[in-house]
Amino acid sequence: MPPNSKDTTGVLYESDAETIDGGLIKDVGKLKTTDGRKLQLVWVNIVLFVILHLSALYGVWLLLTKATWTTVLLFPFALIVTALGISGGAHRLWAHRTFKANVPLRLIFLFLNTLAFQDAVYIWARDHRVHHKYAETDADPYNSERGWFFSHIGWLCVRKHPQVVEKGKQIDLSDLEQDRLVMFQKKYYLLLMPLICFVLPTVLPMYLWGESLNVSWHVMALLRWVTTLNLIWLVNSSAHMYGKRPYDKKISPTDESFLIWLRFGEGYHNYHHVFPWDYKSAELGPYSRDLTTAFINFFAWLGWAYDLKSVSPDLVRRRVQRTGDGSHPVWGWGDKDQCSEDVADTTITHQRVVR
Ligand SMILES: [Zn+2]
Ligand SMILES: [Zn+2]
Repeated sequence: MPPNSKDTTGVLYESDAETIDGGLIKDVGKLKTTDGRKLQLVWVNIVLFVILHLSALYGVWLLLTKATWTTVLLFPFALIVTALGISGGAHRLWAHRTFKANVPLRLIFLFLNTLAFQDAVYIWARDHRVHHKYAETDADPYNSERGWFFSHIGWLCVRKHPQVVEKGKQIDLSDLEQDRLVMFQKKYYLLLMPLICFVLPTVLPMYLWGESLNVSWHVMALLRWVTTLNLIWLVNSSAHMYGKRPYDKKISPTDESFLIWLRFGEGYHNYHHVFPWDYKSAELGPYSRDLTTAFINFFAWLGWAYDLKSVSPDLVRRRVQRTGDGSHPVWGWGDKDQCSEDVADTTITHQRVVR
């Protein structure tokens, strides 16, 4: 049973589950709330975010009109590797421990994670674990009960709710504290982050393919960063509001097809909140829609990623049947949602003759 299970609204690990299909026994709908506390604005952050987004818009114009072809071609690649530092690293590897990685792969993920600048892995994972355990309550850092804007970027423009701080202190982070690389990144973050997220993406294009300082800074540093920020924030905002809930209709997270290609596999959010220990964050779909899983699978093939955790189709089926909203596709032969025409049209060969 999860600690403080009276007020938790979600599971974080398999061991938190109270039912055999990975769920909680109580009706979590009643616990999802906000006290409507008056927000204390942090003006420095607000001004910085406004400047940043305006600079990124200027970056879009530069990308379309002034950038070299090399920059134009490499920009999507830079975007993808940056996002993998959050989706594969901070999220699936460290926050949820869905697989293990050797030192070289952890170094790659830490580098990409610093390139993404969403705070150190230790801080990101702490906030995210609290988000899963106390989803849609005042302890949830990006509580979507406060609306789309708050859960997208607003939570970074105000002081944290005291409940976020209190529950954040209670959450177990001992595994991260034992990871020397994670603690190294946390200790030297203010040195590493500016170098990796801003200096490197500005200097490399200038020296490697003669890009201008103006384009390098606004496109490869700022626009790249702001775009990945917003793509990841969409998981906290839109994917907690709009879409279907095939696995559990009582929780807010949704499986949302909008921009699924750009979500790096993180758009299957209803599945993810139901089974957060699955390294795929989804039932196995086409790889083209889930770059993060393909990335982890590649390193598993190399032997650098191992102990990949997954959920059995049988467990998923049981959960879908008990708590899903009915939008899950037909399971296969015998599913009660299978339409009678399909049953009638099916050819069954090699049938046993009953004598
Ligand atoms: Zn998660
Ligand atoms: Zn979520």
